[in-house]
Amino acid sequence: MPGQDRLKRDIIDRGLCSSCGMCVGLCPYIKTAGDMVRVINPCGLAEGACYSVCPKVSLDLREMDLAVFGREREDQALGVVREIYFARAGENRAAKAQYGGVASALAAFALKEGMVTGMALAGGGVLCPRPVLARTVDEVNGCAGSKYTAVPSLAVLNRALREGMSGLGLVGRPCQIAAARKAQAGNLAGDQFSNPQAVGMALGLFCFWSLSPDFYRFAFRRVKGEEMVRMDIPLEGPVVETNSGNCRWQLEEIRPFIKKPCSLCFDSTSEWADLSVGSTEFDPSWNTLIVRSDKGRELVDLALRRGAIEIAQYPEERLPLLRRAALNKKMRVLGLPEFEDGKPGFPVVGRYREQIEAQWGGVNQ
Ligand SMILES: Cc1cc2nc3c(=O)[nH]c(=O)nc-3n(C[C@H](O)[C@H](O)[C@H](O)COP(=O)(O)OP(=O)(O)OC[C@H]3O[C@@H](n4cnc5c(N)ncnc54)[C@H](O)[C@@H]3O)c2cc1C
Repeated sequence: MPGQDRLKRDIIDRGLCSSCGMCVGLCPYIKTAGDMVRVINPCGLAEGACYSVCPKVSLDLREMDLAVFGREREDQALGVVREIYFARAGENRAAKAQYGGVASALAAFALKEGMVTGMALAGGGVLCPRPVLARTVDEVNGCAGSKYTAVPSLAVLNRALREGMSGLGLVGRPCQIAAARKAQAGNLAGDQFSNPQAVGMALGLFCFWSLSPDFYRFAFRRVKGEEMVRMDIPLEGPVVETNSGNCRWQLEEIRPFIKKPCSLCFDSTSEWADLSVGSTEFDPSWNTLIVRSDKGRELVDLALRRGAIEIAQYPEERLPLLRRAALNKKMRVLGLPEFEDGKPGFPVVGRYREQIEAQWGGVNQ
């Protein structure tokens, strides 16, 4: 696998970096500035883990399914799915939680039960998010709430591993889950770089795109300098809450702020996570929860028994809507004129297009 030089040339300089942060903690010469990942000095090495863990290169969908779950997906839209629920936090819901608070509740619970030693999260405020390695329930709860910029929160993961911690967890966007899985599985990252201890628990978020920080400069003018305390992107359009009210936009107005790597991303539901958490697009006090792995199932079962979360049946009529949203994103990427299988910025899709068409008849069905 190539190294830092190619990472810079193929990904960073072409604006394809999704700011997951995975390469940052690996290398002293790669740093973050806000949501940007930058090479500050050449390392001089021909090969490097920074390239092999990048989710924007050589991300082979079939290989990932096999490495993470030991089997290929049956559902071409959502990936490997064991169960799907509506879920919400139990009585200790984080005050700042975005929706049902399931991501924070499960992260806090995994930490409390000793299933992980720390959780890589995105903390800070909406306007100035930052990577945090949370080691207590209070620290997890302090990170609750969605920050719609691409916080490179994995920067803290490798740093902690280098400092001797193991069995860490993360809550992350789909690109972050992919990066962490690549780092974990030797056959994906090149044996010399693999670290099976890298991920003790991967809690993935649904994410269709993140925004460049320019959005906040734009929003700041619209809210006339008031503090932005929360942001959400419901179907009616993006909304920012300030202490004196809400400011709402049409989706089209904020489209120019969507980051380029997000427009090229194939995965909107964190397909390689142990558990994926998203909105319900229906009831903001609940989340959608997808159980994907044995480890995820174990965490959910224990959390249910101890009252950390509760679940309800996923309404059958909503499943086609979720699948269509995920499929449309995939088909958009496959339909881009610049799409080339496995080219930097795009995943290795192999027979995916035919599989999608065979299963769902393509998009807009
Ligand atoms: C950029 C972005 C886009 C999203 N787009 C969608 C979407 O289109 N559809 C949908 O259903 N859901 C989307 N989500 C997920 C949604 O906003 C909630 O995070 C999710 O439903 C969990 O809700 P919760 O109440 O359990 O979260 P909480 O309990 O509040 O926990 C949120 C967790 O997310 C982490 N986090 C916050 N911001 C970031 C970030 N930028 N990068 C990495 N981790 C972060 C925090 O550390 C925290 O652990 C998106 C999230 C992000 C960050």
